[in-house]
Amino acid sequence: MLNLVLLGPPGAGKGTQAQKIAKHYGIPHISTGNIFREAISNKTPLGQIAARYINDGNLVPDDVTIGLVKERLSEADTSNGYLLDGFPRTLPQAKALQEIGDELNKPIAAVINIAASTDELVTRISGRRVCSNCGAPYHIETLKPRVAGVCDICDGELIQRLDDTAEAFKTRLAVYTKDSAPLEDYYEDTGLLINVNGLLSIDQLFSEIIALLDEVNE
Ligand code: AMP
Repeated sequence: MLNLVLLGPPGAGKGTQAQKIAKHYGIPHISTGNIFREAISNKTPLGQIAARYINDGNLVPDDVTIGLVKERLSEADTSNGYLLDGFPRTLPQAKALQEIGDELNKPIAAVINIAASTDELVTRISGRRVCSNCGAPYHIETLKPRVAGVCDICDGELIQRLDDTAEAFKTRLAVYTKDSAPLEDYYEDTGLLINVNGLLSIDQLFSEIIALLDEVNE
């Protein structure tokens, strides 16, 4: 059982690495951001709540997000492990995750923290694209699709996220610094934190993460 969390500022490459890591170990990739975006495009009640926060770069309230993750981790496909991408993002979420893990007997084995400088993040975000259908991540320079503007996986249209505009991104970075950065200390104290360098290329970073996780998974 390999239960993992990916931490890191917006644009550090969490989504890209999460997809690859989850595929490598055959565990579900659970992205709260993707779940919210899907709910918004399907106009569900959850989507209506999430839309009030996401587009401006603010966090969806903890009670909504924690309830969603608890439900998702109760599903059978997480019995051999899971990879959380974008959760937890606040200390109350981290504490709730600890309780959920204990209750469901699916405790966290490792927390990978992808670090990157603000300058690099701004450059990456401006070139980032995402599949409007399946949520797969792309970049106009570093992670191009086979056909421009079209998703390799599902042929969906590639779009720029509304919260990747300069203004919303500024808010997201500020929110990260205030609410999410303290999680690094929290997980450092629990001995679960593994720091990796988000400035490496996608493939180099992936190899490094797998080498580190294979040690945890022994
Ligand atoms: P992401 O795709 O992980 O960058 O998430 C996009 C947006 O979804 C965030 O900026 C938040 O508005 C919302 N979101 C995703 N995960 C969480 C979370 N754990 N807590 C609160 N809001 C979240």
